[in-house]
Amino acid sequence: MAVMMPKPSQAILARRAAIVGALRAIVPGEGVVDAANEMAVFESDGLTAYRQMPLVVVLPDTVAQVAAVLAYCHANDIPVVPRGSGTSLSGGALPLEDGVLLVLSKFNKVIEIDYDNRCAVVQPGVTNLGITKAVEGEGFYYAPDPSSQIACSIGGNVAENSGGVHCLKYGLTANNVLGIEFVTIEGEVMRLGGKHLDAEGYDLIGLMTGSEGLLGVVTEVTVRILQKPETARAVLIGFPTSEQAGECVAAIIAKGIIPGGMEMMDRPAIHAAEDFVHAGYPRDVEALLIVELDGPGAEVDHLLAEVEAIANANGAVTCRVSQSDEERAAFWAGRKAAFPAVGRISPDYYCMDGTIPRKELPKVLAGMKAMSEKYGLRVANVFHAGDGNLHPLILYDANKEGELHRAEEFGNDILRLCVAVGGVLTGEHGVGVEKRDLMPEMFNEDDLKHQQRVKCAFDAKHLLNPGKVFPQLHRCAELGRMHVHKGQVAFPDLPRF
Ligand SMILES: Cc1cc2nc3c(=O)[nH]c(=O)nc-3n(C[C@H](O)[C@H](O)[C@H](O)COP(=O)(O)OP(=O)(O)OC[C@H]3O[C@@H](n4cnc5c(N)ncnc54)[C@H](O)[C@@H]3O)c2cc1C
Repeated sequence: MAVMMPKPSQAILARRAAIVGALRAIVPGEGVVDAANEMAVFESDGLTAYRQMPLVVVLPDTVAQVAAVLAYCHANDIPVVPRGSGTSLSGGALPLEDGVLLVLSKFNKVIEIDYDNRCAVVQPGVTNLGITKAVEGEGFYYAPDPSSQIACSIGGNVAENSGGVHCLKYGLTANNVLGIEFVTIEGEVMRLGGKHLDAEGYDLIGLMTGSEGLLGVVTEVTVRILQKPETARAVLIGFPTSEQAGECVAAIIAKGIIPGGMEMMDRPAIHAAEDFVHAGYPRDVEALLIVELDGPGAEVDHLLAEVEAIANANGAVTCRVSQSDEERAAFWAGRKAAFPAVGRISPDYYCMDGTIPRKELPKVLAGMKAMSEKYGLRVANVFHAGDGNLHPLILYDANKEGELHRAEEFGNDILRLCVAVGGVLTGEHGVGVEKRDLMPEMFNEDDLKHQQRVKCAFDAKHLLNPGKVFPQLHRCAELGRMHVHKGQVAFPDLPRF
């Protein structure tokens, strides 16, 4: 494993049988899995380059069990890694050898749908798409739509503040969550917000959303549901250069038009997607935009005409408006299948996630091209163009000596460039273990200490998801007074990694 994780506690490993027994007393039946062959499916998440067997897997099905497991782990100093569906691309759900993997997949019920208040109350293991499925019969849907929506859980979405194609107009998970129930590492059940707008007190829902399983275990979520727009139409726009596509995106937003979705693909991604799903994409362009407008029919027609005019003014060479819902779905099919499509042209790929100010796109694309030559690896690009959220896919072959390492270095350089042009390390996939060691590129020591003070307020023993997000854990008492004198580190017993 290239990323260093905290050293497993030998004392915990030695107590494994007793720990498994104690957990079985809390979660009876098949809720505790400790056989190596049965735990193997949990050894990795979507960041498959890293894998690690957990100490034991626990699948509770009541909040009382979650609380009792956490209280037990807290009392016995045992780390806990929460897990939803395990689709994280940043290694957030990577198990720890001396840690309990707490899997929430049995919490798969829609508790209540309240159309009057335009919200749904769901358990954290319900899939993202499952929420839309539960309400679509009445003409509603849940707006944030990660490409993994068929599998990823709403608990994982909250933990990662996940986004998707529709987040430009409708917001990320954080903008669509009204209430959360979560359990602290001490086993206390807390409720924040509810069906009403504006939670009381400090915005703790905002704090929990995107906290990557480091602050508490989410056991219930109240989400906003929206009425399906009357009409949605998409337009495919091809450009001879990525710069022109970038300018077009900026001009659309500058005009005050907020599309339901605005996605961009570069030439390698266009070709991979077209070969895979035959979406009807033009092959002779360097960049392709898919712009979707939604709302009342007359408004959509008017905005489409405006977008076409902006595209033409920015040098578009093709412009095709969907004439039916089937054609619109076909336009999206290529984009939504872009990751597996790239998987067909390379044995392995590494999906990055950085965000930049939109106008920096040409500079970042040029930088990536130079890096591609430097590292000798191909890269295909898909972006949530409206948000400036990049997903470069670095193509490599794990069976070739050194290629994984080169792909990771390439990825790190891309993220450094994102930060250098005024962007951030992650748009929606989270920090996890993947970007943990790059945090100092963006935050100085003081910034990181302040963030860790928040962690300490929730989890003073650092038992929830250790080794993730923060490059180096500080004991809470140590924060703010770390002095290294002549190379002698304070608190030498503190595990550092
Ligand atoms: C093919 C593919 C496409 C993807 N596309 C997108 C995309 O378009 N947009 C996007 O944002 N992401 C995308 N992702 C990433 C991933 O699907 C999201 O991060 C998703 O929210 C993870 O949900 P999960 O249930 O799988 O969580 P997991 O992978 O199980 O866990 C993710 C993190 O959340 C924590 N966690 C999980 N459940 C809980 C809980 N109940 N309480 C507290 N912490 C918890 C874990 O500890 C971990 O840190 C994609 C992934 C794949 C494989």
